[in-house]
Amino acid sequence: MTRKLFVGGNFKMNGDLATLTKLVHQFNEADVDVESAEVVIAPPALYLLPLKELARKGISVAAQNAHQLPAGAYTGEISLQQLKDIGLNWVILGHSERRTIFHESDELVAEKTAAAIKTGVSVIFCIGETLEEREGNKTEEVVTRQTDALAKVISEEDWKHIVVAYEPVWAIGTGKVATPQQAQDTHKVIRDFIAKRVSQKVADDTRIIYGGSVSGKNSKELCFQPDIDGALVGGASLTPQFIDVIRSAE
Ligand code: PGA
Repeated sequence: MTRKLFVGGNFKMNGDLATLTKLVHQFNEADVDVESAEVVIAPPALYLLPLKELARKGISVAAQNAHQLPAGAYTGEISLQQLKDIGLNWVILGHSERRTIFHESDELVAEKTAAAIKTGVSVIFCIGETLEEREGNKTEEVVTRQTDALAKVISEEDWKHIVVAYEPVWAIGTGKVATPQQAQDTHKVIRDFIAKRVSQKVADDTRIIYGGSVSGKNSKELCFQPDIDGALVGGASLTPQFIDVIRSAE
């Protein structure tokens, strides 16, 4: 079993056309082995199309969210069908900012994920505990509950279209990165849960990536852990440091 390193860049609601174009040019020109890692960048919706046209082969583009229904009177929303229509194959769903600020429940995130797979869009499925939950020893309970909601609504086959991103909420945008051991321990909990809940094969094949203050400096040690298969990078993905994260596999 070999799981290819997966590196995601989540730009969130940052950047403008000029700065993001410049950034993607830098990624395009970087001397990295695109075969060693699967690279996906997620710009704000407005810039999906121009950056998709710009990104070189080996760098895919993902949306940061989508609506679960194909079309209709949902002002301000974008459907999975529309993402597919412009040639996108990836979406981030269940990011903690969507769960907390926009009140997306485990069930809604699972429903969106199932709809994405049906539409032919693969999913970076985000889970993770808050500081309060970690301090209350609830990490395992939270990540297994979030994963279980998904296991309820997708088939064993569907898991090949999922990358699980474990992002402890207390580590996101705080500069407080989980130690490689802390991250590894939770990744192992998630993988063991998938083995029990779905199958050993799915557990062995599914990439589980870490997110939360990943930088060019700490990514290698994190990705070296046996159950960490890459990173979802926020702040550092808006800088050339992202290239160092991609190099973690080399
Ligand atoms: P961060 O964000 O790298 O800025 O902590 C990660 C994320 O939210 O995906």
